[in-house]
Amino acid sequence: MGRLRFGPAGKPLGFKGAMERVPEYLASLGLDALEYEAVRGVRISETKARRLGEEARKYDVKLSMHAPYYINLASPDDSVVERSLGRLRDAMIASDWMGAYAVVFHPGYYKGNETPRQALERVVRALQALEEELEGKVSTPELAPETTGKSSQVGSVEEVIEICRNLKRCRPAVDWAHLHARSEGAFVRSVDEVIGVIEQIERELGSRAVRPLHTHFSKIEYGRGGEREHHTLAEEEYGPDWRIVCRAYLETGIDAVIISESPILDKDALVMKRICEEESKR
Ligand SMILES: [Zn+2]
Repeated sequence: MGRLRFGPAGKPLGFKGAMERVPEYLASLGLDALEYEAVRGVRISETKARRLGEEARKYDVKLSMHAPYYINLASPDDSVVERSLGRLRDAMIASDWMGAYAVVFHPGYYKGNETPRQALERVVRALQALEEELEGKVSTPELAPETTGKSSQVGSVEEVIEICRNLKRCRPAVDWAHLHARSEGAFVRSVDEVIGVIEQIERELGSRAVRPLHTHFSKIEYGRGGEREHHTLAEEEYGPDWRIVCRAYLETGIDAVIISESPILDKDALVMKRICEEESKR
């Protein structure tokens, strides 16, 4: 059986202490992953980042970082791409300080491009330039393009794989809620579908991409065009079903990091962990 790690996107609910104390707190809850949220900009100092990294290693909490939301590598406007790359560069450097293994980001928007292909090519070109710039400067984190929640955004499973195939150090970040919203509910309905995505990633990017597979989960509300809002696991009216995704992890035997993006972060991370423990005994 693979190792499944669970943790919140950002500081646990109700935790009032400093960021550096979060790993110890997560370990006391039985959680072992943390995605540092730099979604409004990378502001952590090198000292704090290094301390957070030490604590994470001490308590065996796997660290990742979510880069700023305002990134559009597919823009036809070079200055937008340049600023986006700056944010991603900051995220990579701070992640290196803390020893985070993946820098998750939303690649960009199709808007302004003639075809989705053109948008994807712009993203790849920008990331190749960044990779070259960071070579020898950053050793730990890998770029982790995320599957996105809106049909206006670059970020289908195929696109994320294609981005990674064109980079030296890259791993996909699969957000199952986003895939559900992006397809307006058509996807993440069966264990076989989820296994299909896992196998596709493994086949095209090699087994290291699923050792571990970096993933996000919550329930999600969608409308035309995709994502509206993240919801808790207890809200029956929304999908996808965590049991389906968990069973696919157990059946394939992959290692996975599961970051809870539910409004009740760590609480739902624990719910997901408990459900997987139940499923593994079936
Ligand atoms: Zn994201």
